[in-house]
Amino acid sequence: MDRTRSVNICEPVAVAAVADYDEDAILGALASADEACTLLPPCLSGKKVVIKPNLVAKRAPEAAATTHPAVLRAVIRWLRSKGADDITVAESPGGVYSAARLRGVYSATGTETAASACGASLNYDCSFSETSCPDGVRCRLFDIITPILEADVIVDVCKLKTHSLTGTSAAVKNMFGTVPGIVKFEMHSRFPDYGDFSEMLVDLCRMMCLRADFVAVTDGIVAMEGNGPTAGKPRRLGALLASKNPFSSDVAAEHLIGMDGRTQALKNAAARGLCPASADAVPLVTVGGAPEPVKFALPDSVDKNGIEIMKNLFGGRIYKMFAPYPVINYAACVGCGECANSCPRHTIKMVPPEEAGRGARGAGVRRVPKIERDGCIRCFCCQELCPHGVVKIKKNPLTRRLS
Ligand code: SF4
Ligand code: SF4
Repeated sequence: MDRTRSVNICEPVAVAAVADYDEDAILGALASADEACTLLPPCLSGKKVVIKPNLVAKRAPEAAATTHPAVLRAVIRWLRSKGADDITVAESPGGVYSAARLRGVYSATGTETAASACGASLNYDCSFSETSCPDGVRCRLFDIITPILEADVIVDVCKLKTHSLTGTSAAVKNMFGTVPGIVKFEMHSRFPDYGDFSEMLVDLCRMMCLRADFVAVTDGIVAMEGNGPTAGKPRRLGALLASKNPFSSDVAAEHLIGMDGRTQALKNAAARGLCPASADAVPLVTVGGAPEPVKFALPDSVDKNGIEIMKNLFGGRIYKMFAPYPVINYAACVGCGECANSCPRHTIKMVPPEEAGRGARGAGVRRVPKIERDGCIRCFCCQELCPHGVVKIKKNPLTRRLS
């Protein structure tokens, strides 16, 4: 970690209205943002520049679960215009971190075509190393993928989404994708408490800001509402954000989708002095028109008011009975087992349909997932990684009413 670097709470956040995925318009917005806010070092020649998109799973760009390839192309062209001659796109999606998985994800998301069109390399090196985070509040040791560790400049090109576990997902949460494949599941298991997990995300993102020159670009042109990060619905917002401070950028992004104060990691970051506590205090610089804030649909997992009331009234154990939990829509389940492979607590077992309960009878596959609710920590990795979107979140009617 470079001790001369810091996360500056006064760092401006550039926000631009960008109507659609017109690559030239996005490039123009980035260039204007850079001119207004000095986002990148003056010359990138000879520097190892690593782009970290959000490629959570194999999804087509229209699903709005992943960074759109037009944004990626514009970012690569922007970096080239600043002299970058060594640009790598690197990601560790959910699931196993292997070259085969990376190939599938790069291809499905349009990243492969975007990178080759603009002359950026795609990372297939699946090595990683243990990295210390000496100032971490909740976590002081992370496994991080090699290209990120070798970067002189990290460009965090995230997708703006509501998120079943973390409230919202943008620049800060995107850094969780620098933790390799199934080690992410271990992290969920190490930090089953939502507050601890959020604090760990702040440690991780802050560490990235201190390791290298860092800039966050948020693709909120068509964002995702509802059950993000993969099972929500695309929603046009027409916003592009860019800043050297990912925490402040996310506070501004949270406001744009009507989610103010709903992301625990940002509350923690504000308490640590890494960003303002509310969007009003973020130093915003509007370039080429300001996008209109809209109210996004919440994930089904969020019944925050009701859950908080239950927690305060009855404490942790009873609260658990009322918290939202994952259920399987057996009629649409294909029995692939991805959910079981992704469960950090191994509380999902693949069993014959007759063993999974009444709802599973008649499922047209030999084995279906059965969730043991007792061991479930409500991380919602199963929902995130089900390729068919058939893991739903069941809410308790009482907490919903209290909400
Ligand atoms: S990942 Fe989805 S489709 Fe596959 S077994 Fe689990 S619930 Fe069924
Ligand atoms: S069942 Fe789903 S929500 Fe529960 S611990 Fe496993 S992956 Fe997380």
